[in-house]
Amino acid sequence: MTDTVEAVDVLIMGAGPAGLQAAVHAVRKKASVVVIGRPERSALYRAHVENYLCVNGITEGHVLMEVAIAQATRFGARLIEEDILHVESGDGGFLVRSEGKSFLAAAVIIAIGTAKKKLRVPGEKELAGKGVSYCVDCDCNFYRNAKVAVVGNESAAVDGAITLTNYAAEVTLICKELEVSADMRQRLSASSVTVMHDTWVKEIVGETAVTGVVLEDDTSLALDGIFVELGSKGPLQLATAIGVDLDMETFSYIATNKKMETNIPGVYAAGDIAGQPFQMAKAVGEGCVAGWEAANYVKKLKRQGEQ
Ligand SMILES: Cc1cc2nc3c(=O)[nH]c(=O)nc-3n(C[C@H](O)[C@H](O)[C@H](O)COP(=O)(O)OP(=O)(O)OC[C@H]3O[C@@H](n4cnc5c(N)ncnc54)[C@H](O)[C@@H]3O)c2cc1C
Repeated sequence: MTDTVEAVDVLIMGAGPAGLQAAVHAVRKKASVVVIGRPERSALYRAHVENYLCVNGITEGHVLMEVAIAQATRFGARLIEEDILHVESGDGGFLVRSEGKSFLAAAVIIAIGTAKKKLRVPGEKELAGKGVSYCVDCDCNFYRNAKVAVVGNESAAVDGAITLTNYAAEVTLICKELEVSADMRQRLSASSVTVMHDTWVKEIVGETAVTGVVLEDDTSLALDGIFVELGSKGPLQLATAIGVDLDMETFSYIATNKKMETNIPGVYAAGDIAGQPFQMAKAVGEGCVAGWEAANYVKKLKRQGEQ
């Protein structure tokens, strides 16, 4: 790694829709902007999007990402396709180290998304996007009149299964032991969801698309789709390293105000890492605000420095 530390006005952690939209808005306000992240690791990259405004029909996420990267870089943002390994607060800003570079940033925007928990069973990886989904709100419309299951024990799974009853012909919830409130249990029993207790998915089967699952007791269930809803885990270590507060309820997301400011002056957060709903529309909206505010923050710092 180089010992050179480059100064930058706004450093954006994450090259998904939140980070790239933040880059567009910050750079157009004349801030110098570096985005560090791997676009192909964005949740959007493998999505098929049809609920984002102005998108005509179903559009592949990677196509949208290519346009976003071209926009952000054309306006002058610099994209470094690496992972960030270390962040710390220092004199004059935030020291950010990636695999090969070090930056001292006056402001940082954390837009590193969330890591969806996987089942880690045979067939899951191979059939992801071909009947294996991690987002009910995103993909429910693709399963109209289909036979689907949701696997999970927590509220995300129960809520997802109930939502799916508005689309699919048959919905099964596969769970070990439900860890949800009495209210949610009541909503579940009032719904048409079939609940399979005390079991779990052992394998997902299908050649080119999901055709079913094998359960722990080796019985099979024929399905058109399986939703894995195991809650979500934010890659929060980087964020908490500089002391940002998490949400008080679940401690899973970065807490922000309406300006996407965190509790640390000069640190902003946007997109999935800032909480639900996990949707591109929210990510770009928050990215816009964070980019705008971070650029204003840096301008103000510079004005103060001149006085
Ligand atoms: C299968 C699927 C289908 C979906 N369908 C839809 C849909 O139809 N409509 C919709 O609106 N939304 C959909 N979504 C959700 C949408 O993709 C996300 O809400 C959106 O991508 C969140 O954007 P983000 O920028 O916050 O995070 P992401 O897009 O996840 O981007 C995170 C970025 O952070 C980077 N990163 C992570 N850790 C580090 C690190 N240590 N250092 C540097 N960079 C790091 C990653 O490389 C990536 O570039 C779908 C998601 C999935 C998984």
